[in-house]
Amino acid sequence: MSQTDYSFFGAVEQSFNKAAQFTKWDKGLLEQISACNAVLRLRFPLKREDGTIEVIEAYRVQHSHHKTPCKGGIRFSTEVNQDEVMALAALMTYKCAIVDVPFGGGKGGIKINPKDYTPYELEKITRRYTSELVKKNFIGPAIDVPAPDYGTGEREMSWIVDTYAAMNPDNIDAAGCVTGKPVSQGGVNGRRGATGLGVFYGLREVCNMPEEMGKRGMTTGVEGKRIVIQGLGNVGYHTAKYFQAAGSKLIALAEYEGAIMNEDGLDVDAVVSHRKSTGSILNFPGAKNLAKSGDALELECDILIPAALENVINGENAPRVNAKIVGEAANGPLTPEADEILLSKGILVVPDMYLNAGGVTVSYFEWLKNLSHVRYGRMEKRFQENLHGKILEEMENLTGKKVNDDDRKFIKHGPDEVDLVNSGLEETMINATRQIMEEWKGNPMIPDMRTAAYVVAINKVASTYTQLGIFP
Ligand code: GLU
Repeated sequence: MSQTDYSFFGAVEQSFNKAAQFTKWDKGLLEQISACNAVLRLRFPLKREDGTIEVIEAYRVQHSHHKTPCKGGIRFSTEVNQDEVMALAALMTYKCAIVDVPFGGGKGGIKINPKDYTPYELEKITRRYTSELVKKNFIGPAIDVPAPDYGTGEREMSWIVDTYAAMNPDNIDAAGCVTGKPVSQGGVNGRRGATGLGVFYGLREVCNMPEEMGKRGMTTGVEGKRIVIQGLGNVGYHTAKYFQAAGSKLIALAEYEGAIMNEDGLDVDAVVSHRKSTGSILNFPGAKNLAKSGDALELECDILIPAALENVINGENAPRVNAKIVGEAANGPLTPEADEILLSKGILVVPDMYLNAGGVTVSYFEWLKNLSHVRYGRMEKRFQENLHGKILEEMENLTGKKVNDDDRKFIKHGPDEVDLVNSGLEETMINATRQIMEEWKGNPMIPDMRTAAYVVAINKVASTYTQLGIFP
């Protein structure tokens, strides 16, 4: 199949169908689960700063309403099209189900390169898009809750919440209409790095499984593992930070202008500041340049982490992938053809729709914070600190020994918002990894971890439909 014929939604459906045969559900119910419930296709004008008028193409897709609100990011990219947004919305449904986040899947996209527009123009586009969503009833804390994705971040989310709140002045929960907001605008501490931290927790859990590691001739643990990451955006950057902090070696980092490599390990912050000052990742002191960004995907390593866009490992380059584990931090980085090839090479593919679920998991925590109108930790932090201090004091009195200052600080510390958020995320990712692995081990016919993840997701979505009494 040529790359232009590639249907991302078709690929998601293919993976879904592959997994559906391992479930007991009625054909009609399975069809309902995989279908996209609602597609909003928008065209609206933008008057640019130079006075010219441009027509902007945008989408919002609600893949599933088995639970509401729908949830999923909004991307700004010239590659945006209906097929892509539908696929990404579908992945959100399965992702939310696996990590027990009570949302249906959604996704939005605006077909622009944000670098081609001034901040003023981007604000106009984002606000207009939001008011179109309001008009069509495609946004709201109980309806559909966007979030950041490729090409968007906290700034865009703050424009969205401001527009929505202005148009819904009597909605006391208006802050919950979007997540990934700046903390000053109702965001939650820990959301920015959440997807990367979730990727780290998920892969760390896999690396702690002696059986999986043993099969690939690897030792357990992430320390010393040789990692390659493609994409240094929000997801790739934070993933790199957490692996580096855990003692793994970042042997190569790739961005669209090329890739750099150093067997002794790269310092991600130094690479990012080098890229900021020179405009390129290339020529980083002490590192070797790789001509093409894609070359990094073929390096020999323990864990390869594509953290940029879909379809980067396909039938053409998959035979040359030389990693023991591929961790899909991006959405859809492997085509189904690549999946088959990596499987035949014995490479473990840790699938996107659960591995990158950290973002939506913490979005869920942010949404809960918005609905409860109180920050995490406010009620218990001081109580816990006093309690821990008292226990410590009693122990010291009873034993006659003193705890050192560092340990004292750690033991006494009551949880801040970020501690609770990260702990909830860690729990979520560990549980999800184990559930998927159990499903996989429980049925030897299931060929790979992605299929096992889909089976878990399908079972959860299907049982919600049956609880609703819609299907037998
Ligand atoms: N865009 C992110 C994703 O693909 C986050 C979605 C969200 O937080 O709703 O999972």
